[in-house]
Amino acid sequence: MNIKSRLPEVGTSIFTVMSRMALEHSAINLSQGFPDFPVSEKLIDLIHQKMKEGNNQYAPMAGTPMLRKAIAEVIEKTYQRPTDFETEITITAGGTEAIFATIAAIIGSGDEVILFDPAYDSYDPAIRLNGGVPIHLNLLPPDFAIDWNAVKSKITSRTRMILINTPHNPTGAVLSESDMRILETLAIEHDLIVLSDEVYERIIFENKKHESVLSYPLLKERSIAVFSFGKTFHATGWKVGYAVASEPLTKEIRKAHQFITFSVNTPVQLALAEYLGDPENYLHLGKFYQQKRDFFLSEIKGSSLKPLPCFGSYFQLLSYEGVSKKSDAEMTEWMTKEMKLAPIPVSAFYKDKSDHQLLRFCFAKGEDTLQKSGKILKNI
Ligand code: GLN
Repeated sequence: MNIKSRLPEVGTSIFTVMSRMALEHSAINLSQGFPDFPVSEKLIDLIHQKMKEGNNQYAPMAGTPMLRKAIAEVIEKTYQRPTDFETEITITAGGTEAIFATIAAIIGSGDEVILFDPAYDSYDPAIRLNGGVPIHLNLLPPDFAIDWNAVKSKITSRTRMILINTPHNPTGAVLSESDMRILETLAIEHDLIVLSDEVYERIIFENKKHESVLSYPLLKERSIAVFSFGKTFHATGWKVGYAVASEPLTKEIRKAHQFITFSVNTPVQLALAEYLGDPENYLHLGKFYQQKRDFFLSEIKGSSLKPLPCFGSYFQLLSYEGVSKKSDAEMTEWMTKEMKLAPIPVSAFYKDKSDHQLLRFCFAKGEDTLQKSGKILKNI
């Protein structure tokens, strides 16, 4: 049989590979990003209740109105911008589906999408599966800032979209107001659409403000902002997220979404709608994770691996420059198999496999796990 693969060079996602390797070698798994602490009992009870009450059939395609209304209120409170729950919010099967549905709906054959490496692993294949052409621009350590002149030089008549991610996975970098203003000007000047992955919107440190495309009215008009309940409520396995976009963009996104997942599971949506009503349930996430980051950093003090600045997300990069000449992939394998601690090599996030001798560690873990990890890292 001749299967003509659309993604011939793509293997299994690095997150799956590393979680599997960690398990196989009984290593502490700081590779794949997911919290190891429990979801709120209240939220679990609410889901149970919604199921028992018989809310077990298809939800409306765009998401239950109750949840979309609750999200619109949260957006209003957070970004001081009105959002129409009927026409501007779509509930998706996680942030990844929101990204895929958006690209499938908007990017056609030969359309160029500018994205920044290191990049989350689904972006490039999503663009290519839909006939688009990914244009990768490398961001460099230690601050991974966007060089907007380099962006300008990549814009052609085929450029249709710029894909950003703030707070940034895997680097923990965040975009500033000045980045957003430049992006807004560029997007308007070249009639571009902005896809903004903001799934770590609440995991931001040092009193920094999350710069959402939703905060900039002219940018908002031509943007899709993607969010994830998995990140905010420690429930990555539920796979519930949402896309916020102006009415004309939302119309297109829903055309794709209805044929990708149709709709997202009903009881979780209804429970989330109720749970979102209390801001206490999400407002302190930044502080919570800043403590985790600081705890992890204090536990690795004395290690020869050096932390890079991290302003958001639940990932910390460590540099082993001067410690070993191994490639980051080799270093990862060695650390997992021999030291029993699994990170992710940052080269996996670069299309050209750039190796800056950096490893990504997920600190969304209990203190005991972070302490044990610190002990291992101090011995390297
Ligand atoms: N977003 C998570 C990470 O970056 C993992 C997602 C996944 O496993 N596909 O680690």
